[in-house]
Amino acid sequence: MNKDIQTPPSSTLGMLGGGQLGGFFAEAALKMGYKVAVWDPSENAPAKRFATHKFNAPFDDAEILDKFVSVVDAVSLEWENVPVELVEAIQLKKPTRPGSRSLGLAQNRTIEKQFLKDNGFPLAQYQVIYSAKDLSGLDQELPWIVKTATMGYDGHGQWRISSTSEKDEVNSPIAGEGPWVVEQVVPFDMELSVVVARGIDGTSITYPATENIHENGILRMSVCPARIDPSIELSARHLAEEVINAIGEPGVFCVELFLVHPSKILVNEIAPRPHNSGHHTIDSFSISQYEHQVRTLCGLSIAQPRRIGNTVLLNVLGEEASVLSSIETTNLILKTGRARIYMYGKESVRPGRKMGHIIFSGENIGVLEKEALEALAIISRR
Ligand code: ATP
Ligand code: MG
Repeated sequence: MNKDIQTPPSSTLGMLGGGQLGGFFAEAALKMGYKVAVWDPSENAPAKRFATHKFNAPFDDAEILDKFVSVVDAVSLEWENVPVELVEAIQLKKPTRPGSRSLGLAQNRTIEKQFLKDNGFPLAQYQVIYSAKDLSGLDQELPWIVKTATMGYDGHGQWRISSTSEKDEVNSPIAGEGPWVVEQVVPFDMELSVVVARGIDGTSITYPATENIHENGILRMSVCPARIDPSIELSARHLAEEVINAIGEPGVFCVELFLVHPSKILVNEIAPRPHNSGHHTIDSFSISQYEHQVRTLCGLSIAQPRRIGNTVLLNVLGEEASVLSSIETTNLILKTGRARIYMYGKESVRPGRKMGHIIFSGENIGVLEKEALEALAIISRR
């Protein structure tokens, strides 16, 4: 579809996927005067709380595809496992940003790694295997992480191998369909992420690098700005922007990075959508990552957002959400005036599922971090 098409307010924007990222997109779009059509198989998907049109069907439903395309003026996505074929079909008829190129890269780790390697971007050493048996023949230095090529998220579909004997232990879990990426464990000092917004004219902006702290492969806390040397921060932003320029599609993206002592930066993966570590941009930037997603989708101006303050984000995972259904606990967290609670309205709770997040915003990161850790102790009853 014509790369230059612009979509004015009062039009209807389609969103593929109905999770919390789609919900924040819909809120930003509604504020700007757009309507939002959300397509997600689940009737109660979080983004549907803000949808003006709801499509509750699997992504391979051809009839719904026709209806969706007839209702929407432009389409974006919030989940990287939307079928590429669906996006290919939609983008023939309506501007779709990002499009099938970004999606195809991000949803298959082997293609993503090859793309990064072909373009000369720094990344962890890796090999691709097609059967668990291939593990025994690998000559990479241990430890490794074996990662499924498709459908992985929040550390699901990953196995760490620290010793030769553990190679046999993962044989049965990884006996399903390959291929897998076997990646060397990176002894990083810090994990970083950079959100990049790229407009239809090819110009781009980056948000400051965010410092991410994971627990069991799931993002637990993010600190913005990352507590690193300013020159490293600039290099991280530059690298992320180069990666997105190499893809060349408009949209909002996030590039996840590893910072290895003292200043080496490796690319971990690319998300073709706003990112959990960028939720704070709603509270602490003049333009949020979600508003930028609307702008890049509609061909509006993108602009370097102004930072209003520092933030620490705390994810609310699984059963922790139930603690926040009490007034007392909620008030304990809210009383400082620096915390804002965002809950996604998910009905079913699974261990580790992202149910909401709390943003602590202010100036002194030490204070914000302390409050976030206190809130973590409350919600996790540690
Ligand atoms: P998500 O979609 O939630 O970002 P994912 O399941 O797609 O996650 P990764 O981002 O590749 O997978 O890995 C999840 C986390 O596991 C990383 O953020 C990091 O903490 C750890 N990890 C992944 N690869 C490596 C590596 N090569 N070395 C060290 N740690 C790693
Ligand atoms: Mg990741």
